[in-house]
Amino acid sequence: EAARQRFTERNLASLKLHNEATESLPGGNTRSVLYSAPFPVFMNSGKGYQVFSEDGHIYTDLVAELTAGLYGHSQPHILSTLQSTLTETGLNLGATTKLEMQHARLLCERFGLGRVRFTNSGTEATLHAIMGARKYTGRRKIVVFGGGYHGACFFFCEGGSAENNVDREDWIIARYNDIEDAKSKIESHATEIAAVLVEGMQGSGPCIVGDHEFLLAVQESARKIGAVFIFDEVMTSRLAPGGLQEIVGLKPDITTLGKWLGGGITFGAFGGREDMMQVYDPRVQGGLAHSGTFNNNTLGMAAGHAGLSQVYTADVAVEFNKTGDKFRKKLQEVSKGTKMTVTGLGTILGIHWLVDGRKELRTLEDRREDKGLLELFWLEMLEDGFWITQRGSLALILGTPEGELDRFVEVVKKFLEKYKT
Ligand code: PLP
Repeated sequence: EAARQRFTERNLASLKLHNEATESLPGGNTRSVLYSAPFPVFMNSGKGYQVFSEDGHIYTDLVAELTAGLYGHSQPHILSTLQSTLTETGLNLGATTKLEMQHARLLCERFGLGRVRFTNSGTEATLHAIMGARKYTGRRKIVVFGGGYHGACFFFCEGGSAENNVDREDWIIARYNDIEDAKSKIESHATEIAAVLVEGMQGSGPCIVGDHEFLLAVQESARKIGAVFIFDEVMTSRLAPGGLQEIVGLKPDITTLGKWLGGGITFGAFGGREDMMQVYDPRVQGGLAHSGTFNNNTLGMAAGHAGLSQVYTADVAVEFNKTGDKFRKKLQEVSKGTKMTVTGLGTILGIHWLVDGRKELRTLEDRREDKGLLELFWLEMLEDGFWITQRGSLALILGTPEGELDRFVEVVKKFLEKYKT
């Protein structure tokens, strides 16, 4: 209560804006994940690895736009590309451009894709990957995993959409990290399944990491029944030069991408096996049309390409994720013997306060959070100048000083001592 009270007193401008926002937005909100009780903080601007609130507070940004903000708020190369694209190329041209060609080529190289198509978001990438798989196989059902999140209308976790989804009979939900369950669900519906759709780490878990053996077994089962194996790398593509699939040794039929790969501009993509992507070739009779006004928007294509070719190169990706691993290990060290649990891979992390004190998360059912501690932690981190999500997910921004990450570890340590958790 005291922490909530302090939060309210420190953020009166946000409170006022929130009240105004509720007059036109339901609950003052247009992205569910950004709502936080008692009311959300309104941000005013960002620079580098920091964000500045309407209440005049400065935060080190560990939300990083839910991993899409890999480059931070003013990476010079991204900024100058955006500026020159605006002034020299213009906004969408209503035509095919070299910009999409060059970004497509680089994505194919980096992620080992035969062909790729662009969308406006990760959600749309999922949608079209599924539609393509249905067209390719002539089947309808999709196997997904409890706790999975594949976009605004494709999530199978708390408040999930399976129940309300337009084609709810088409989902078969298996247990994550459970090879037997996955195999039996996939193989017992062998002739009906168009695709198996899985994340290598359930990012919205937050950060329930998939075992390599589990992911390889899921891929093998999908292959065995002739279903399309779709690997969702919308969040995890930043974890290695060629995405998490490179680390695990997977060869997905179709990979979905999004977030940072648009350089901070709205972005999504799906691609993979050339024969499967062939259904989208407009020269092929009886294929699938796939439109989207902003699919090849000039800003996203240019900024995405600039980032991938010149900023987040393979070497940088490797180093950055080493920094993330080091950071997670330091947090795990201070969490020993406490109620805090830290999960994640590389530069994406989840901080949990589990009622049963378990130190590892393997499935959705393992995640029973102490909601009070989760909120208290969020409130206190904000007071110490760290911007994190209320659900406890963190991602790193390229160029955040390591000293700031160390300060976060110290602040967490202080929190653990103060509340004797
Ligand atoms: N897939 C995964 C694994 C995600 O984490 C997300 C977004 O968080 C999506 C898909 C959807 O992407 P978008 O928010 O761009 O629609």
